[in-house]
Amino acid sequence: QKRGKKLPPPQKIKVICRVRPFLAEELYDDTVMVEGNCVKITNKRKTNENFVYSFHSCYGMDAGQPEIFENDVKPLLEPVLNGKNATIFAYGVTGSGKTYTIQGTETRPGIIPRTVQTLFEIKGLSKYSLDLRLSYIEIYKEVINDLLVPRDTAPSGGLTIRQGFDNQIYLPNLTEKKINTYEEFKKIFRGACRNRSTAATKLNIMSSRSHADMCIYISCTNNETKNTIFSKLHLIDLAGSEDNRRTENGKERIAESGAINKSLFALNQVVEALNQGLSRIPYRDSKLTRLLQDSLGGENISMMIINISPGQSFYADTYNTLNFATRTK
Ligand code: ADP
Ligand code: MG
Repeated sequence: QKRGKKLPPPQKIKVICRVRPFLAEELYDDTVMVEGNCVKITNKRKTNENFVYSFHSCYGMDAGQPEIFENDVKPLLEPVLNGKNATIFAYGVTGSGKTYTIQGTETRPGIIPRTVQTLFEIKGLSKYSLDLRLSYIEIYKEVINDLLVPRDTAPSGGLTIRQGFDNQIYLPNLTEKKINTYEEFKKIFRGACRNRSTAATKLNIMSSRSHADMCIYISCTNNETKNTIFSKLHLIDLAGSEDNRRTENGKERIAESGAINKSLFALNQVVEALNQGLSRIPYRDSKLTRLLQDSLGGENISMMIINISPGQSFYADTYNTLNFATRTK
């Protein structure tokens, strides 16, 4: 940074909130209400104590996958095609809807498949030629694993993070798959999702204890000007933000939770430092933040999706999640 040359203020992180619907087996005892871009939580066990939080946008339990994608994700793709890097996170406790939002299900596809599908639609327009590549990793106990290679062929100890002369972050030996069609993508994605490491906890049998990062590398050529622009889009399903001391987990779980919370804590510190315009951003404090060094801050775009559950039984988690989110804005 040259002395006297003022950099534009970094883009603030955009924070949106989504409340998942009640699940079939859950008691209907709602404590969460969405109105406009505000969410109000009421603690029925504590004389209806309540708090109101506001976000860039808020989605109630009847909001579908297309609504969130069209309103808040699709608009980010235009700047990405113009060379900005972007990161979308899903934050929340286990069972709050992070994986549903980012990945989705076979019949209700989430942000990852919708993004890829939209990029292929854009590819169909004559103005651009796109070259799309994917990588998919998980960070588990501060070790980075490649989800695009079978478990038994993956090197032990995980992947390392490097920074090139151009300041771009890269992971030597990381698999990058070129995708030519949406069908091809679906096949790769399905296999990779199966590779994610999951462990049983009291909260959720398939609860995910790792951060998963689908990175889409886009090389976009304008057919008229022949200009080619490169960018990266990270779509991240963060590990559960719960306080594991309360889930009566064994020793292994608690050790794991330390590493998970370390990177969530580091992420929070990085976002706060960026929002305050500090000159020293502590990217190196965790694998997750180091990985995102070239994509968070500056002119890059980031959005945090705060996932919460609707019931009274999740009240403490919901309260903690919303307060975290407020500090992140
Ligand atoms: P997390 O990844 O945060 O642990 P999940 O995404 O697995 O949570 O969601 C927990 C359960 O709730 C899953 O069965 C999921 O299908 C369901 N679910 C989450 N969000 C929604 C939603 N918006 N609409 C319908 N079902 C949802
Ligand atoms: Mg999950």
